[in-house]
Parts: sequence; structure tokens; C-alpha cells
Amino acid sequence: MIIRIKRNSVRKNPDYGKGPQSVFEQVRSDVTFFISFLSIGSFKHQDLDKMISKFECRMTTFRMTLAPGDRLPVCEVEGYAYTPEHAQGLIDLFKSLADVRVKDSRIDIKNHFAEYNSIFEPSKYLYEYEDTKVKCSACGHEMSLGELESDYSDYDSDGSSSVCPKCDEWDCCEYEHENINDVLEEMGLE
Ligand SMILES: [Zn+2]
Repeated sequence: MIIRIKRNSVRKNPDYGKGPQSVFEQVRSDVTFFISFLSIGSFKHQDLDKMISKFECRMTTFRMTLAPGDRLPVCEVEGYAYTPEHAQGLIDLFKSLADVRVKDSRIDIKNHFAEYNSIFEPSKYLYEYEDTKVKCSACGHEMSLGELESDYSDYDSDGSSSVCPKCDEWDCCEYEHENINDVLEEMGLE
């Protein structure tokens, strides 16, 4: 099986010839959440803390505020979450509790990047591969390349980067990526 290069995706790289480029790589993202409650029912500060840590989140702020005109104080909670999904799970849980009333909620994601200089000259052409389905030789499951899994042996340095997600067969299909130089030649480019 050959994974073909999309002919209409082959294009000149605008960075070609400019020398090695700076590359920005995302190194981490900070996820924070904010929830305000009109009522936290029978929960106490420690109960909230416990619940929040069950969702891989950490509370950093707990405060009661009384805005002018409000009859009752609003409870505000802030903290860090492992992922946005964890924070959303926490918010959904609070919204589902009968004696808790969520007023407002927010999830913020701040991405941090590191800059480094690539040692590689940018390639002359950019291109993409066709989305090709491969078939497991053991169970017949058809899948795109992204679904293939990797596995490594605990006993030796053996491994497979084409493990069937259905039946766990190692090297479940054979494929190779088309060579860009062959395509350039076919298209009369160099
Ligand atoms: Zn299979």
C-alpha cells in the first residue's frame, strides 16, 4: 500500500532559501477555572475542595463577596485544572447538584511557547498525503493511519508502530509513503 501525495497540495515553500528558521513549540498550557455560586447548599469550604480535587483540579481561591444591592453573598471559586475537559466536568457536576446554584462559570486556557532555532534548511516544497485507509491483515479492520497504535515489548527492544486497534496484531498492515522526489519529477518540477 502506497500513501500517495496529493498532487494538488504540492506547492513552493515560501520559507525556502531563507536559512534555518525559528520554530515555536507549545511547551505547556495553563488551564484555570472560575465558578461563582448563588448557593453552595450544605457544602462547606472543605467539601468543595475535596470535590474539586477529584476532577484533577486545584482550588486556589475561595471567597464570599457581597456586591452592592445583593441580598446574599456570592461564593467565588478559582483554581487550576489539569485539562479543560476536567474543568468542564467539574462545572457540569456543580450545575447538576440540586441544592447548588451556579451563577457563572468560565474556563481560561493560556498557552506558553518556546522558541528555538531549527538546524534544518526549509524544504523546497510543501505537500500533504491523501487520507488513505489501510486494512489489518489479521482481522480485516479498515482504518486511517492515525488510528494505528504503537506497542513495545518489555523483554527486548522490539516494537511495532502499526498495531491494529481492534485485534492488537503487530505490524498489521504494510504501507509506505510516496517519495516527494518521484512526484516532483512526474509533475515536471525540481
Ligand atoms: Zn486487526
